[in-house]
Amino acid sequence: MLEKMKSLFELQELDLILKEARIVHGKEVDSDSILEKISKIREKIDGETLSRYDRLIKQGLGVVQLRNGMCLGCNLSIPIGDINRMNVGNMDPICPNCGIFINL
Ligand SMILES: [Zn+2]
Repeated sequence: MLEKMKSLFELQELDLILKEARIVHGKEVDSDSILEKISKIREKIDGETLSRYDRLIKQGLGVVQLRNGMCLGCNLSIPIGDINRMNVGNMDPICPNCGIFINL
């Protein structure tokens, strides 16, 4: 579960690089190697997670870090019980407030 979030975070880094390149340069910059990395990472992630991530990333971010028990997506704290359940894999690492993926 946590490994999955790590992959998702790597995927987001690359997606953001692409997004920024399109905005700043108005074109695809070295996009072939980035797209290749993206598809390699996506292969490791299940479809349900990917479709949720894809919806989220369109609006901004798909996955955020947890800091001091707080989701950096919505800046609200997540109940410690939920964090514990996420850590042991009994709950998807998704913020109960804003629905973003959380990299624990
Ligand atoms: Zn949140």
